[in-house]
Amino acid sequence: EKKVVLITGCSSGIGLGLAVRLASDPAKTFKVYATMRNLAKKKRLLEFVKELHRDTLEILQMDVTDQQSILDAKEKVVEKRVDILVCNAGLGLMGPLEVQSLDSMRHILEVNLLGTIQTIQAFLAGMKAQGRGHILVTGSTGGLHGLPFNELYCASKFAIEGACESLAILLQHFNINVSLIECGPVNTDFLVNLQKAELEDLCVEQVDAKTFSLYEKYLQHCNSVFQNAAQDTEDIVKIFLTAIQSPSPAFRYFTNSVVEPPLTKLKAAHPDGIQYIKAMSEMVFSGEEK
Ligand code: NAD
Repeated sequence: EKKVVLITGCSSGIGLGLAVRLASDPAKTFKVYATMRNLAKKKRLLEFVKELHRDTLEILQMDVTDQQSILDAKEKVVEKRVDILVCNAGLGLMGPLEVQSLDSMRHILEVNLLGTIQTIQAFLAGMKAQGRGHILVTGSTGGLHGLPFNELYCASKFAIEGACESLAILLQHFNINVSLIECGPVNTDFLVNLQKAELEDLCVEQVDAKTFSLYEKYLQHCNSVFQNAAQDTEDIVKIFLTAIQSPSPAFRYFTNSVVEPPLTKLKAAHPDGIQYIKAMSEMVFSGEEK
């Protein structure tokens, strides 16, 4: 019997990569429901999967901010069960906090936080009744420590940590595992889809000169991090596979052991936060007076 997998946010990036990998599994272990908000974007996924794997892949519409669309997608799962749920849909929001509109702040929380939680909610009762299941969530190192100019993104990803950790404690009793795949920078459409305040659009009435110059530094830092340390989706997909195939999956998987753990460790070792804040500030704004 195939394992039924449902993945959100499959029109690009990590979701697309994972759907392709699982649907093309040589042993045909998985039946993949690759969901996306906009079905007009399914061409890219289909090109990767080709005709070969039509029996292991189904593409469904699902907007994680729309409860009805989640329930409609759930109805279309012919097996009437999901063994592995991957909550991956998400987006970024970057820029000085002063310029963020309430609508854009609401939207990122709706997609990243409530979208993930609503999706889990829809499949939770089914998994509990089955007495087994695995919920995987694409987490971010931005959910483990703060990043300047990413307040709302980090807030959404920190919140996911809390929700998932809380659920994991309860779901142990139902033989359901919860795993966060904590990604650092990954080469996907994330930066294209990201809502970013552009330097040239920031006027002096909105942002003071010091914030402007710090933001400029941050953007340079961000570009160099993506250029030098970004992983490919295949690297992330491998970690997902490790988690999916493990008989006793961990709660957290780190995809980028070179870049991230020192900062995460620093934060854990000094709970008063002073060291981490200083280290991150130096890393991003080095040379800038405080
Ligand atoms: P991506 O932009 O290529 O993929 C995100 C997908 O989510 C897109 O296909 C997008 O259409 C979809 N999406 C957005 N809103 C949606 C909605 N309302 N309903 C359904 N789908 C929706 O970027 P990615 O890097 O593959 O992102 C996947 C996940 O990885 C996100 O949760 C992101 O926060 C996380 N992540 C990415 C990075 C990175 O550097 N790329 C780092 C850490 C975490």
